[in-house]
Amino acid sequence: MAKIRPGDRDKAGDEELALRFVNTLAWRNAKSPEERLPDAEALLDWLAGAQGIEPQALSRLRKRGERRKAEAEAVYHQALELREALSRLFLARGQKLSPSSKDLHILNRILGASRPRIAAVPSATKGAASAWRLAPSEGEENEILAPIAWSAAELLTGPRGMRVRQCEDERGCGAVFLDQSRLNNRRWCSMGDCGNRAKARRHYLRKKQASGRKDPR
Ligand SMILES: [Zn+2]
Repeated sequence: MAKIRPGDRDKAGDEELALRFVNTLAWRNAKSPEERLPDAEALLDWLAGAQGIEPQALSRLRKRGERRKAEAEAVYHQALELREALSRLFLARGQKLSPSSKDLHILNRILGASRPRIAAVPSATKGAASAWRLAPSEGEENEILAPIAWSAAELLTGPRGMRVRQCEDERGCGAVFLDQSRLNNRRWCSMGDCGNRAKARRHYLRKKQASGRKDPR
């Protein structure tokens, strides 16, 4: 059976940048998670697609990355380290648990090193007039991670931080999302796939129970 990829739906782009970034390790709770950012180039592509970086800054960084491979590699590893720290920080926040000081240090190091500059850019979504977003300042390569860190910090320090959840899909989807449901009881990343599947599975089990048949598998 073809898996529905959580990355496919982040094109909808309405989730916070930091949450979408965490979800670039898809099937996080499965036996073999899927790495959507296999190398430094993929990281830049993702940032461009996620509007976490401006096009001019992106082409500048690509050129620089070709010249200074070791530097680009280091930023890539820092990005993955940040992603895993954010995953743990969000889950801790959502469950009202104390965060690990090591994870906080990873986030705060990037926040502390960045020099914020705010850009207002037209939203890619049709019908929306415009959207504010934070853009990294010129120059420092490691500042490409700054918008993700700011997005995370904003979420973690605000009241919405307590609404970060992880998909309960039993195959191990593990995608994080912001629960904006009125009853605060959303369980799946998307009703379109993981939620639907859980519903179908429950329906199947109920039917099986009722008829007393064996699982056909
Ligand atoms: Zn899911």
